[in-house]
Amino acid sequence: MKDIVVQKFGGTSVADTDKIKNVARAVIREKELGNDVVVVVSAMGHTTDILTKLAKEISQNPSPREMDMLLSTGEGVSIALLAMALQEQGCKAVSMNAMQVGIITEKVHSKARILEIKTDRIREHLDSGAVVVIAGFQGITDDFEITTLGRGGSDTSAVALAGALKAKRCDIYTDVEGVYTTDPRIVPCATRLEQISYEEMLELARVGANVLHPRAVEAATQYKLPVRVRSTFKLNNLGTLILGVEEMELHRPVTGVASDLSQLRVVVCDVQDNPGVAATLFDGLAKENISVDMIIQSYARKALNTNDIAFTIDKADLDKTKEVLEKVRPELNYSNIFIDDKIAKISIVGAGMIDHPGIAAKMFKSLAKLGINIKMIATSEIKISCIVEQSRANDAVEALHTVFGLDSNSVAEVKGDLPNI
Ligand code: ADP
Ligand code: ASP
Ligand code: MG
Repeated sequence: MKDIVVQKFGGTSVADTDKIKNVARAVIREKELGNDVVVVVSAMGHTTDILTKLAKEISQNPSPREMDMLLSTGEGVSIALLAMALQEQGCKAVSMNAMQVGIITEKVHSKARILEIKTDRIREHLDSGAVVVIAGFQGITDDFEITTLGRGGSDTSAVALAGALKAKRCDIYTDVEGVYTTDPRIVPCATRLEQISYEEMLELARVGANVLHPRAVEAATQYKLPVRVRSTFKLNNLGTLILGVEEMELHRPVTGVASDLSQLRVVVCDVQDNPGVAATLFDGLAKENISVDMIIQSYARKALNTNDIAFTIDKADLDKTKEVLEKVRPELNYSNIFIDDKIAKISIVGAGMIDHPGIAAKMFKSLAKLGINIKMIATSEIKISCIVEQSRANDAVEALHTVFGLDSNSVAEVKGDLPNI
């Protein structure tokens, strides 16, 4: 049996028909190396944003089911066009959507998790000599409802498919030449990393480095699957290899810096300081599938028997969060709610942090020097995050990138435009 390689091409890589023809050449090149090839593609260019905008023109609160029906169509266009481009270049190819493959997810719209991937139909096509082109981002529940995996979810489709097919490698082709020390669109002198561990990549992806979907990194860790992030536009470049920490050659105290503008901060003021109050609040949020990131509870005001609870959530979950807060009001008896939607989460990540005391102090000092106020702090073994004013996000990232010695002498090459709709 031949080795299987999974290649994933993101939206910028398939933004127009010339780019799709270019992708077909990259696929054929991999096939000519003697591998069976499974390709996962995203929707063309900014299609998903455009579809979202269409929905918003009709409804401010579209049904999650119909949103998934709508957004999943984008990937359907790319797979058929890429299969045609491959056939046109003399390569046997077949496109398949999630339903045809059997990418089974939980019954959650807009951020479903993959539960199982059926491989028999893919294998049949591979055995017939075809390249199989599969729609990323889509899933199907066991009662045939269409789901999607969350923005950026095609990475997860690719890595999960690679794991299920026992592929030897999963290559994520994108518009930058690999994983950088920070977003090269924000800091042009960001440095490309030759290697990064699963753990560091997972933290970076979670704190806003959207070059990879966090669940894709989780899946790669689970399958111990080597993942390479590389450029669609410079096929000879090696990109960045993501691999187990034990295989890493070097541990830097800080490997990367990221910013995340997708969250907002909710402060619930004068909450009753009684056992069970936090449980009620966060249980209510969990039941609505709202993920909470940072949480801070203030020092109790003994005389009043109250404290404040602040937490961060995705901006998209604000309406649902307000409903939950209304529901728990009788028990929490809070005085008011303060919503701060102009925040940024700035994070530094590095596996070597554990052995280097003083990293947090250095981060706070750098922010202080710029007069940037820190609103919240959270740490893990290999990460420190600070919530700051959104207008200072880029200043903070640039300063931390420099202070932790991550600047490179060259300028990173980035293709395509940022979504501007
Ligand atoms: P695709 O459409 O190929 O999935 P994405 O836009 O999802 O591409 O991801 C690639 C983008 O990720 C880059 O253009 C870059 O702006 C952004 N990015 C953020 N952080 C990083 C990082 N640390 N390294 C590389 N790219 C990053
Ligand atoms: N098309 C989806 C998005 O834009 C999925 C992806 O590109 O990974 O988020
Ligand atoms: Mg992406």
